[in-house]
Amino acid sequence: MPDDVVTMDKIVSLCKRRGFIFPSSEIYGGLGSSYDYGHYGVLLKTNVKGQWWRSMLQEREDVVALDSAIIQHPKTWEASGHLAGFTDPLVDCRTCKLRFRADRLEDARCGRKPSKHPGETSECDLTEARDFNLMFQTTVGPIKEEGATVYLRPETAQGIFLNFKHYLQFSRKKPPFGIAQIGKSFRNEITPGNFVFRTREFEQMEMEFFVPPDEAQRWFEHWVAERLDWYIRLGIRADHLRLRPHEQDELSHYSSATSDVEYDFPIGWSELEGIANRGDFDLRAHAEHSGQKLEYVDTASGARYVPHVIEPAAGADRATLAFLVDAYDEDEIEGEARTVLRLHPLIAPIKVAVLPLVKKDGQPELAREIYRDLRERVQAEYDEGGAIGRRYRRQDEIGTPWAVTVDHQSLEDRTVTLRDRDRLAQERIAIGDLADELERRLRAPWRSPKETAAEPS
Ligand code: ATP
Repeated sequence: MPDDVVTMDKIVSLCKRRGFIFPSSEIYGGLGSSYDYGHYGVLLKTNVKGQWWRSMLQEREDVVALDSAIIQHPKTWEASGHLAGFTDPLVDCRTCKLRFRADRLEDARCGRKPSKHPGETSECDLTEARDFNLMFQTTVGPIKEEGATVYLRPETAQGIFLNFKHYLQFSRKKPPFGIAQIGKSFRNEITPGNFVFRTREFEQMEMEFFVPPDEAQRWFEHWVAERLDWYIRLGIRADHLRLRPHEQDELSHYSSATSDVEYDFPIGWSELEGIANRGDFDLRAHAEHSGQKLEYVDTASGARYVPHVIEPAAGADRATLAFLVDAYDEDEIEGEARTVLRLHPLIAPIKVAVLPLVKKDGQPELAREIYRDLRERVQAEYDEGGAIGRRYRRQDEIGTPWAVTVDHQSLEDRTVTLRDRDRLAQERIAIGDLADELERRLRAPWRSPKETAAEPS
């Protein structure tokens, strides 16, 4: 298999160069591990989230949507166990004055030059590990002293459990059914890093699937398979994905089974998403702390039970990073190096670029007319500035799968060329057929050319 050319540094640099993702508050020197998404980054992450919603809401009939508040009643976190137990072990180094996660020392670098792993040299002087709660705390109300202490949610899941009862009432669903949510979560990570892989503010895509207790194992297996398949269908190379079932001693106290979907990032195999069988822990805990009954009563048989919960919990930013890493490629066209994002067309920020070959002879006017029509159907971009080769390179670098070029012939017979990012084929096509052809290609099954290139011929 040819070596994958991608590195994290190349991704960071492409993301900045093309305005996908860049450090936040840069005019003030930046804030460590805090990032802003620019135009193409917003489009890309929106597509990732859109495909997740689609797989939950449109392609099935047993999942409904929710958008719950970020700041919830503080008792939520008492009941969920986050106040007492959402901690990472923290150590300080008395020599370099930095702090590290005690269980990730091998991933960390200490403050001295040349940098070593904390604890590696005799000069390192690490404290005993102590528990550090990852929740961000703030106060609601105008007077700090009199206000109530609240927390920015460290996961979106709890908002779903708090609303379970509502959903039984107004969504006309009964187990097995799920509630899905996408939203920001906040964790005061001790050692954020590796670009948007681990940040303190990030988006999660979580779904809680409520099932009769005796069906939990079957649904757990269903969701593990579904979620792995989602990444593959959207073009992530199957040999760069794997499932890692948690060992018994790794499981949360309430979980009877958890499997991570892992991706082979440039930093090594790392979690993309966790799928957990959470049993009835959450509903029971909130029932106890709120005094409300959180159970399902079958009106026909009168049977009542507390549903068990299967939770696929993914990160939108981490998934976006995986799509970028998996798509990054370099090749050569006519002796010239090119960087190309071989993104699945459904994930690509821009589906089609419309380019007049020259900026005269009526070509820009016709190209703009085509652009106006196409953008009714797909995210399109118009670009008339600079040599055509450079405009193609720019679109390749942001992952645009197709480019429409208007040339002198177009004005005579209303045809254009349609260029494919990966095959580099240029086909002549009638302007009137363009939109349908693009939609047909968007819906077609797709495999990463990086994957097919790696196959023995
Ligand atoms: P990790 O072991 O990497 O800290 P976790 O097991 O604590 O992750 P979960 O609580 O299961 O993560 O959260 C579900 C998903 O949310 C993760 O698989 C990941 O994609 C995403 N996620 C969690 N923490 C972060 C973070 N700090 N930055 C970006 N994404 C995150």
